Amino acid sequence: MGRVRVSILGSTGLVGQWMVKLLENHPFIDVVKLSASPGKVGRRYGDAVHWFIPGDIPEYARDIELVSTEPLDHKDVDVVLSALPNEVAGSVESKLLASGINVVSNASPERLSPSVPLINPEVNWNHLEILRSTKGNWLVKNPNCTAAIISMPLKPLQDLIHELHIVTLQSVSGAGYLGLSYLAIDGNVIPFIKGEEEKIDAEINKMLGKQSPGNYEPWEKPIYVTSTRVPVKYGHMAVIHAVLKEPMDRDKIINALRNFRSLPQEAELPTAPKEPVKVLDRIDAPQPARDLDPMAVSVGRVSVRNNVLRMVVLGDNLVRGAAGITILTLETMKHLKLI
Ligand code: NAP
Repeated sequence: MGRVRVSILGSTGLVGQWMVKLLENHPFIDVVKLSASPGKVGRRYGDAVHWFIPGDIPEYARDIELVSTEPLDHKDVDVVLSALPNEVAGSVESKLLASGINVVSNASPERLSPSVPLINPEVNWNHLEILRSTKGNWLVKNPNCTAAIISMPLKPLQDLIHELHIVTLQSVSGAGYLGLSYLAIDGNVIPFIKGEEEKIDAEINKMLGKQSPGNYEPWEKPIYVTSTRVPVKYGHMAVIHAVLKEPMDRDKIINALRNFRSLPQEAELPTAPKEPVKVLDRIDAPQPARDLDPMAVSVGRVSVRNNVLRMVVLGDNLVRGAAGITILTLETMKHLKLI
């Protein structure tokens, strides 16, 4: 099997560190370049990174010399994986694309472009098909972390839904390594995250819609979102009230969630969770401290009253919401022979 050579931009950040970790001993993806901000270029990864995530820095990465984001430094890779801050990503990724380099990116610029696939593999792997009519190199985007998590249980239910009301409870790691001061969030809840509500609405509508060559049709359901930041390190939660088109039996909803499988499961891709949506029976689930799974999304508190479904959803913002989804997207593209 042909191997896929990748470089990671933003490799010293929270999402980048998870990519470095998840790609250790990957069956067909090799990390050949690691990049960080200009001040760290030329240093050994093991010396420059402030390793923050569980476990040790993988051995293979320690001695890699950090490179810049310039196209010349990434000429010999198959795909550049970007975990750059949103403010930096737009211009860097455009330059790479203009130099003929393929990019899979976690950053927000271009996520809503009709010609760019926005991929959460279990939800809309088929949107990748538009790349077959793309000439030359391509850009693929990963969704916002909360949109990635919420779209998983919505996918098997989407035909039942009329509109959505969502309140999120998002962890501090969602703001990156230097994102929030301890004093701002300790013992506090902040009921505002800049740009987040708009992203969740638009990106869920894009992923649950249709995208094929010459056809772009977002789902176009009303999604009313309130995003909050809570003093939790890892894991984003969301309380979802879905107004259904008609009353539904709770057991049928639970079965649809539990039986949801998609191409990553059928193809047994290395990073795919066996059960992408886990419905937990415990009355007080899901909780970030007890129920966080790297790639599966946990669902609890499922109830139906009249035609309103309530469920509480939890996912790992750094793995399912970012680094893991990037790698699962690459695995899906390899399976589809797009790389
Ligand atoms: P982060 O912890 O702040 O890391 C940012 C990374 O970018 C670091 O490696 C940093 O290098 C590098 N960088 C900063 N400025 C740069 C520049 N001018 N040139 C080159 N490299 C530069 O951020 P993160 O949380 O990992 O997020 C990365 C991206 O993923 C963002 O676009 C974010 O929106 C997205 N995302 C994050 C999450 C999440 O839960 N955190 C989830 C989904 C998507 P230095 O170490 O040298 O500063």
